[in-house]
Amino acid sequence: MAFLPTEPLQILEPQPPAHGRNDLRRSLVGLSRDDLKQVLAEAGLEPFRARQLWQWIYWHGVTDFSLMTNIAKKTREQLAERFVIDRPAIVTEQRSVDGTRKWLLRFADGNEAETVNIPEEDRGSVCVSSQVGCTLTCSFCHTGTQPLVRNLSPAEIVGQFMVARDSYGEWPTPTADATRMLSNIVMMGMGEPLYNFDNVVAALKIAMDDQGIALSRRRITLSTSGVVPMIPKVGEALDVNLAVSLHAVTDEVRDMLVPINKKWPIAELLKACADYPGARNSRRITFEYAMLKGINDSDADARELVRLLTPIHAKVNLIPFNPWPGAPYECSSNNRIHRFAEIVNDGGLSAPVRTPRGRDIQAACGQLKSASLRGRREKVVTPE
Ligand code: SAH
Ligand code: SF4
Repeated sequence: MAFLPTEPLQILEPQPPAHGRNDLRRSLVGLSRDDLKQVLAEAGLEPFRARQLWQWIYWHGVTDFSLMTNIAKKTREQLAERFVIDRPAIVTEQRSVDGTRKWLLRFADGNEAETVNIPEEDRGSVCVSSQVGCTLTCSFCHTGTQPLVRNLSPAEIVGQFMVARDSYGEWPTPTADATRMLSNIVMMGMGEPLYNFDNVVAALKIAMDDQGIALSRRRITLSTSGVVPMIPKVGEALDVNLAVSLHAVTDEVRDMLVPINKKWPIAELLKACADYPGARNSRRITFEYAMLKGINDSDADARELVRLLTPIHAKVNLIPFNPWPGAPYECSSNNRIHRFAEIVNDGGLSAPVRTPRGRDIQAACGQLKSASLRGRREKVVTPE
């Protein structure tokens, strides 16, 4: 068994961004293959260089042009004069007693977001943010109490996964899927990915490219609070696994927990899920359900959940509510959660109870960013 420290480990090493504001060189990260070709052509480079660079950037994880041994020295120097291969800067890296790692990342304009890796026995799921904050205001989610600052760019989204790979030293891309420490991406960090659709699609296409990070679409899950008109578009553009933040079985309760429900109520949401590619066959859609004491956790709620989801090829993730300072809810008791899970299981749906991970470093579902806001008041982060 891997050694785990008994206390959470906190590493605070403020660093200047890899790609500072005064650096006019263009970043090559986050461009589509075609855009990369175009940018290189404008710099007078041949089209085949795009393929070489793509492999260096996303397969080997190289950030230094001088390491690109199949490119002539003079060309490497030209590249370094005009371009950079950058990463979001790591403000802090925290390690939980349970092995979870969380990075607070700072982007070139000073905005910050968090990324988490959740290691399990046979996989590592990197929980990636799509926005700084969130425009939605789900009442049980701490991210929802923070205003949206902006959407993240494709480079900032895929860059989060690359930072995680740097941290684990997992370059070049492992050829055998089973040996990967960082094997999955879950778009479950801060923000609503379907309100930043184009950038999320661009980033995930880069992550899925088999000459680079090479993650299969089966190892990517996108979670949405229920932006119904965009759900078919996820199927068309990406065909990744879908997770839906359901959290309630009546519109009355869901309106209160996930206010986007007022726009797209449960029936419309479930219709879009039933039509998602593969949803009726082999692929199951995951419905996330945070267990909130006295709000959505009765036996009747569990039975209604079974009734609603039976027509869809679905599985339910029961998430014990993760508290945050001032939260207006409490987590259901263990007994209640297990009774609820039993009813859902007996109804024929798989309903694992998700053990909260990384609670000691505020890395669990719905807790992101809160630590950084609090941290900022407590410590002075060296400005760049
Ligand atoms: N914005 C997207 C994805 C990010 S949230 C979405 O809402 O789906 C990832 C999951 O954590 C969502 O299901 C969210 O509803 C849930 N969540 C948010 N706050 C939580 C909390 N305090 N405890 C447990 N789960 C929470
Ligand atoms: Fe935004 Fe998702 Fe939190 Fe709702 S649960 S506020 S959509 S991050």
